[in-house]
Amino acid sequence: MDNALASTSFAVASERPESTTARPLVNAKSTPMNGKILSIEALTVSFDGFKAVDGLDMSIDENELRVVIGPNGAGKTTLLDMICGKTKPTSGSIRFRGTELGKLSDYQIVRLGVGRKFQTPSIYEDLTVAENLEISIPQVHGVWASIFFRRSKEVRERIGYVAEEIMLKDHLRMKSGKLSHGQKQWLEIGLLLMQDSDLMLLDEPVAGMSPREREETAELLKRIANGKSLVVIEHDMDFVRSIAKKVTVLHQGRLLSEGSVEEVQNDPRVIEVYLGH
Ligand code: ADP
Ligand code: MG
Repeated sequence: MDNALASTSFAVASERPESTTARPLVNAKSTPMNGKILSIEALTVSFDGFKAVDGLDMSIDENELRVVIGPNGAGKTTLLDMICGKTKPTSGSIRFRGTELGKLSDYQIVRLGVGRKFQTPSIYEDLTVAENLEISIPQVHGVWASIFFRRSKEVRERIGYVAEEIMLKDHLRMKSGKLSHGQKQWLEIGLLLMQDSDLMLLDEPVAGMSPREREETAELLKRIANGKSLVVIEHDMDFVRSIAKKVTVLHQGRLLSEGSVEEVQNDPRVIEVYLGH
């Protein structure tokens, strides 16, 4: 990585700048889904006869922050794998703003506006925070495109905006490997924000974080959900309570319960299989 970024200054925009990413594949807003951004029907995936997700129906609203919980092996990660195209469904439907995702590649799904944060970190530790954010812009591929984008004011503004959002604006020139575990997780979320995904999928984003970092992450996710949809897998119930309006409980690949935190915690089926303590 050259150090062209090192000499640039990072504007910290108080308002969200226009997206620098184009989405040529579809006009995503052209197919209304009654306020839903994601609609899943009868979704099933079978691994050698074992149904990790089994006939699942669920939908996510525009600007919703949904939490998915469930015991280990419930199929939560597999569900995200199918939404982002990493795993192909055996049957059923996943529609994102009217576009069927089941047959698209993971790359095409990102281009449509679906971003995924995996459980394992995928940042480049030898690059600075700013460089990681910069190269996560999908269009910045190839030397000329890269030089062009690097010079663009919008990109600098966007990096500044995202860095402030993820609480790393004072760390832009720090090598990412030097960040704390929690800060690395925030940077990962920042990579998704750079992509300007409209639907963000986060798998256990506060795993390994300190209580303070968890609180800050809860605030971060609530801020993000004011303008995007998020699906967050989490099992820390204090954290779930702090962010969730609506919770989906999976068990053995099926929908066990859905509702407010209080409703699912009082649901006898949930108490039996998941919260039975
Ligand atoms: P969760 O994230 O809720 O803990 P997962 O979605 O990771 O659960 O896994 C659900 C079930 O599917 C588990 O029993 C797991 O072993 C199984 N599974 C997941 N991926 C595969 C795969 N590629 N091949 C076979 N079995 C899998
Ligand atoms: Mg999992």
